[in-house]
Amino acid sequence: MAKFVYDFTEGNRDLKDLLGGKGANLAEMTNLGLPVPPGFTITSEACRHYLAEGSVPEGLEREIADHLSALESAMGKKLGQADDPLLVSVRSGAKFSMPGMMETVLNIGLNDESVHGLAKQAGGNDRFAWDSYRRLIQMFGKTVQDIDGELFEHALEELKNGRQDTDLTAQELQGLVETYKGIVREQTGKDFPADPREQMRLAVKAVFDSWNAPRAILYRRQERIPADLGTAVNIVAMVFGNLGDDSGTGVAFTRDPGSGRQGIYGDYLQNAQGEDVVAGIRNTVPLQDLERIDKHSYDELLSIMETLETHYRDLCDIEFTIERGKLWMLQTRVGKRTAAAAFRIAVQLVDQGLITLDEAVTRVTGDQLAQLMFPRFSQEGDRKKITKGMNASPGAAVGKVVFTSERAVELADKGEDVILVRRETNPDDLSGMIAARGVLTSRGGKTSHAAVVARGMGKTCVCGAEELEVSSSQKRFTAPGGIEVREGEVISIDGSTGEVFLGEVPVMDSVVVEYFEGAQPDDELVKAVDRIMAHADSVRRLGVRANADNPEDSARARRFGAQGIGLCRTEHMFLGERRQLVEDLVLATSKQERQAALDALEPHQKSDFIGIFQAMEGLPVTIRLIDPPLHEFLPDLVALSVKAATGEATDKDRALLVAVKRLHEQNPMLGLRGVRLGLVIPGLFAMQVRAIAEAAREVPGARPEIMIPLVAAVQELEAVREEAVKILQATGVDALVGTMIETPRAALTAGQVAEAAEFFSFGTNDLTQMTWGFSRDDVEAAFFSRYLEIGIFGVSPFETLDRDGVGRLVRLAVEEGRATRPDLKLGICGEHGGDPDSVHFCHEAGLDYVSCSPFRIPVARLEAGRAVL
Ligand code: PEP
Ligand code: MG
Repeated sequence: MAKFVYDFTEGNRDLKDLLGGKGANLAEMTNLGLPVPPGFTITSEACRHYLAEGSVPEGLEREIADHLSALESAMGKKLGQADDPLLVSVRSGAKFSMPGMMETVLNIGLNDESVHGLAKQAGGNDRFAWDSYRRLIQMFGKTVQDIDGELFEHALEELKNGRQDTDLTAQELQGLVETYKGIVREQTGKDFPADPREQMRLAVKAVFDSWNAPRAILYRRQERIPADLGTAVNIVAMVFGNLGDDSGTGVAFTRDPGSGRQGIYGDYLQNAQGEDVVAGIRNTVPLQDLERIDKHSYDELLSIMETLETHYRDLCDIEFTIERGKLWMLQTRVGKRTAAAAFRIAVQLVDQGLITLDEAVTRVTGDQLAQLMFPRFSQEGDRKKITKGMNASPGAAVGKVVFTSERAVELADKGEDVILVRRETNPDDLSGMIAARGVLTSRGGKTSHAAVVARGMGKTCVCGAEELEVSSSQKRFTAPGGIEVREGEVISIDGSTGEVFLGEVPVMDSVVVEYFEGAQPDDELVKAVDRIMAHADSVRRLGVRANADNPEDSARARRFGAQGIGLCRTEHMFLGERRQLVEDLVLATSKQERQAALDALEPHQKSDFIGIFQAMEGLPVTIRLIDPPLHEFLPDLVALSVKAATGEATDKDRALLVAVKRLHEQNPMLGLRGVRLGLVIPGLFAMQVRAIAEAAREVPGARPEIMIPLVAAVQELEAVREEAVKILQATGVDALVGTMIETPRAALTAGQVAEAAEFFSFGTNDLTQMTWGFSRDDVEAAFFSRYLEIGIFGVSPFETLDRDGVGRLVRLAVEEGRATRPDLKLGICGEHGGDPDSVHFCHEAGLDYVSCSPFRIPVARLEAGRAVL
């Protein structure tokens, strides 16, 4: 029979699938002999069953009852026992950390009787007992009974009347409990449940349900966490940080999650419980202050932190509570960190002998590297600094100030850059945080919700800028010196320094980009990147090439580590002013006109190719023959028609209109493109091949590879190939001739196509378009957001290669192509070539190289290394 409940002594950190991250790590800490309050974990399997069936699995209630009895025996008291109650917390904990996204209920077991027992336990501390009770009703009401949290908040604020929550007396809190009970009665039509087991049962279900809360769904989508994992639930004996000044609660990191530097990092809040720190409700003190407040606990915490870091061989974050001078560990996990910290820490751990370089490469990601390539603020010129907060998540963000999540989404949808400014954020602000370029808060430490979530998303964040007075209702904030900033005004925030500037501060390239551009690694971060990249390069099997169409991009690509060009789109050489030349060619009606157009194109082509060959200095350059979707290269039909209708058209316009009408296509992406155009316009491909060959003759060591686009049948390829080979032979230039695989038919007949191709390059943009039947130009705006919302796919197939469908075609073509021609060279040049997950796929599918835009090359190199390890 399935086992749905595990005592902390039964689990370990490898059971995250079943026990969630929190449960698995609580078990690990328990088994390490660290001070963890006793408890047990209900598995995510039970949650999945509940979510699928609408009821808990058979046997679960029994198992929970048994484990609760064991817990009660261990603690020597019973749940909710009137004179000496055991209280428990019910905490969510999924496999992947989703900070603040799901629910937790504390103080389960309190009711009108046991509140007195709790007061007695606490040495006659009535205030504490009533405070705990009101917290239970508040959390339970909001989480389990779905009551608007504002109702409780409002009652509390009214009672506080400007005071701190610690100033409330026992009597006042007792009154608040009555008020809260009234709210519950009014909102649910029932009394607050007094039976402790009933409280626990309902809380467990509420935690299960919170897996599907909208903000959790959104977070999972953002972080690409699978939707069907479910969450585990931890039932833990309560320990109290709100028993007085010898108690408290805190969050710590074993090193700085912002920079990676070793030291004491964290926040501590005296006389507080549970989520107070993370929620940023009151301002915390730095963890160093704990040494002064409670030296014994401080020393013990430091030693535990060292144990954990050595044991996990990584940065850990920790939640702890001190109850009357006794330290308890409530959570640990391998901590989230900024991209810069990830690189630094990985290398530090290598130097400390804790991990190998291979492991170091797996500890960083291509996405993190991409983040480090983001720009930062220029130090030059006038910068009007208005305040400084905490540097919670690095980056440089500029945008219009907004004060609500809704407004952030609304303006971002219109393409505006916004900065979300809040007193503190809560998990409901997630959509606004995603929409904003950056987040600024006036309250909360580096471990507040805003900071944790922003770091996880790689979003620039400054938090705890205490000098700011933020008023969302008046849509403004004030800063020292009488400065007032209203909604819509532009500010710039620096997540690396915590500085906030009025107006737009110019941004400049990152040091990491400068390093890739050739600067010597001289700071710690760049040195770390250098070591990790060097190791990734030494282990990777996949080559990395660039998609580049001009000498500048080619040169940059080389500096960034490209081993060749995988895609030079020749039609891109005719965008802008030269577009006219392609237009003339396509519209030519006579042989003479066509020849004149070709003659005009050829010298441009040749000199472009010379520039690229020179930049690539003997590395292979795959030149794709022209593939201009006609709608991108012809004058606009509607504009011409309007001109004609209003009598403004010249003779030329009228002639053009006739031609454009003739060539107009309903589905240009499926129309006269690629090889089809080459076969229809005589001399076009021949001109290009001649230009390539002649350019190659002028640049010693040039290695052109000629690539035919949009082939669907080997016959198309054969026709073009024959002509190309003749020209190459006549000019004495050696070049591979190959094809793109971008139609499903080419993939399905790859065995035949390989007869005429010396290489394949998968054009996964078109291959995705045609496999899914999704118009590349239309679907993303039309309905992808809806598809993502309802989970048809977790990520756009134009972004990450769809392994099941498109990937299957790729694998088939690889297999059949190589069967025909064992030395067939294989690459990919669609946008997927620079996407981390797709790079892993290409490695697994046995391709020889990936090709991507120059700025993605370092990402592809790193991911190609990670794919091996
Ligand atoms: C492709 O289709 O993947 C490709 C690289 O070609 P283009 O994007 O130019 O159609
Ligand atoms: Mg294509």
